[in-house]
Amino acid sequence: MIDGKTRTCGLIGNPVEHTMSPIIHNTLAGTCGHNLVYVPFPVENGSLEDAIKGAYALNILGLNVTVPYKSEVIRSLIEVDGLAAKIGAVNTLVRTEGGFKGYNTDMSGLHRAMISEGIRIEGEEIVLLGAGGAARAVAYLCGEQKAKKVYLLNRTLDKAERIAKEVNGAFAKDVIVPMLLADYPKLPCGKYLAIQGTSVGLFPHDEEAIIEDAAFYQKIHTGFDLIYKPFTTKFMKLVTQAGGKAYNGLKMLLYQGIDAYELWNQVEISEEEAAHVYHALKTAMGL
Ligand code: NAP
Repeated sequence: MIDGKTRTCGLIGNPVEHTMSPIIHNTLAGTCGHNLVYVPFPVENGSLEDAIKGAYALNILGLNVTVPYKSEVIRSLIEVDGLAAKIGAVNTLVRTEGGFKGYNTDMSGLHRAMISEGIRIEGEEIVLLGAGGAARAVAYLCGEQKAKKVYLLNRTLDKAERIAKEVNGAFAKDVIVPMLLADYPKLPCGKYLAIQGTSVGLFPHDEEAIIEDAAFYQKIHTGFDLIYKPFTTKFMKLVTQAGGKAYNGLKMLLYQGIDAYELWNQVEISEEEAAHVYHALKTAMGL
């Protein structure tokens, strides 16, 4: 029950109406017995700085940040966690003495999701599809987690080249190899972990996949699609048809939320509690 001691967390972005984050955090507050509510806060363009100052003045415990503010928010923070600073994108703000500190739990959440599915990055040869905001964070994760090689394929080559330069510079290693998406047949022979980070195949375009050619999927032992709506994407279907294992991005969403919740409340969420929230997310999706 909301009372005089209820703490508030929330999501800032524009738009925020589609978010599933309230399900994650309000379910966790219920299972953990925390007196906390999580609400979406739409923030108009030009009002971000005021929103952060206002949130701090209102004793808000923590915030998630979504599109289009993940980079812009940094200048309103008192401190930024090491890897989030490297990436230049923050999705979680934690209240500290004098201001908010920024973290990137998109990336730690993806890593935790992969660990929970038994997928490793270290020593792996990876095909990363896309060079937008999400793929950029994945490229950093691959660098940090010591992937052997990451072929970064994008429709617009210069975006892939820019990310490769940044990540290779950040980790002082030529781990990311930028390529044009259409050049996928030139991938060296081998078996890859493929991470699908484009928006192709996202609901309502369920029948689209970033690469349709079955020959590509013969090279993939595991496919991880960051998309979770639809629950089984065309990319995932093509991976499994070729004999690989396929996963969607719902656990990434789950664990980015859990990581944020843990930071705000200084708690550790058990795998049982995580499973309970995952079930709540699936129910909300009508699954
Ligand atoms: P973004 O910054 O807009 O990037 C979009 C990417 O998709 C770019 O690489 C773009 O290529 C590519 N793309 C779009 N349409 C294409 C087409 N017709 N053909 C080829 N490439 C195309 O988006 P984002 O924020 O990175 O998000 C990407 C996906 O990740 C979205 O589907 C989002 O739902 C998902 N995501 C999931 C989670 C999660 O928690 N599971 C979190 C974040 C994002 P160009 O550079 O050539 O335009």
